Amino acid sequence: MLLFVLRDLDGGCNKLDNEKLDVNTTIAILERIKDIIEANKDYLTELDSAIGDADHGINMNRGFSKALEKVLNNQYADIGSVFKDVAMSLMSAVGGAAGPLYGTFFMRASMKLAGHKEADLELLAQAFREGLNGVIALGKAQPGDKTMVDALIPAIGALETAAKEGSSLKDGLAKALAMAEKGMKDTIPLVAKKGRASYLGERSAGHQDPGATSSCLILKAFYEALGN
Ligand code: ADP
Ligand code: MG
Repeated sequence: MLLFVLRDLDGGCNKLDNEKLDVNTTIAILERIKDIIEANKDYLTELDSAIGDADHGINMNRGFSKALEKVLNNQYADIGSVFKDVAMSLMSAVGGAAGPLYGTFFMRASMKLAGHKEADLELLAQAFREGLNGVIALGKAQPGDKTMVDALIPAIGALETAAKEGSSLKDGLAKALAMAEKGMKDTIPLVAKKGRASYLGERSAGHQDPGATSSCLILKAFYEALGN
């Protein structure tokens, strides 16, 4: 009985309290991403309706639902293969700008994780840095262009610093999440220079970027699934 109460208080999330990221943890994280994106589908779409075409929540929800379905129907020997299947699902199901960009993030990260049964904070930071490099190479967004990059750059910087300081995986992710949230909020006054929002010019200022918001939600899922 008490267990049920505690589970309810936890919001039903899968807490693994795991210091390394292995295949099972990665799948639990993916379940959490899918749940968080689904719960925020309307919010993301609302943000995208202000400065885009009102599809970001729908796109992301479709993509992560497909990714989870694919991953739950397969067996994996290494975490790189899980990330790769997520990447392929996102590329084929998300559409818009975000599909190829998030697909590239997970694909480039998967290359760094290939053959690894588990990752510590240092390896995860390296994989995320590779993913971010892929997003920047594809989308050509600079910091301050009001995109997902504005949440990812400070978050991954924090992850790397935490890894150098010898932090635990969940402490590193907590710091990364805090920086992603700051980066996300800092997109509000910015004028968009990339993507659909850039068509609005100055009128894009005063709105939070949908992609920076979804990046933040994805990092929140990593953090929460690892236990907080
Ligand atoms: P679309 O704009 O094609 O409808 P989405 O609505 O799914 O695609 O995603 C929009 C988000 O994609 C934006 O909020 C922004 O964060 C991100 N984005 C768009 N273009 C770029 C780019 N060139 N580089 C990085 N991120 C981008
Ligand atoms: Mg859109």
